[in-house]
Amino acid sequence: MHVRKGDLVKVMAGRDKGKEGHIILSIPKENRVVVEKVNLVKRHQRPSAANPDGGIITKEAPIHVSNVMKVCTSCKRTTRIAHKFLDSGKKVRTCKHCGATLD
Ligand SMILES: [Zn+2]
Repeated sequence: MHVRKGDLVKVMAGRDKGKEGHIILSIPKENRVVVEKVNLVKRHQRPSAANPDGGIITKEAPIHVSNVMKVCTSCKRTTRIAHKFLDSGKKVRTCKHCGATLD
């Protein structure tokens, strides 16, 4: 997975192409991520304790990780990820364009 929970990503393909949002859930096993306000689906829900009236709710559905690209918070461009080792030996992700540290 080239992105992880909390990352700002841009959708590169599909119905929500062009939208940006943060990853709210990653599902590495399926190579899928859930991005806020992206791929919204309507769900019919029975009344429950949390939602006594039931009804229709909109909810994000997972999209494939290959359809999103990370957005660099420094240069604001969609970017591929490079890795760099800090002097401390810690591995961090950096932007291929501007070199900013993304972790
Ligand atoms: Zn950058």
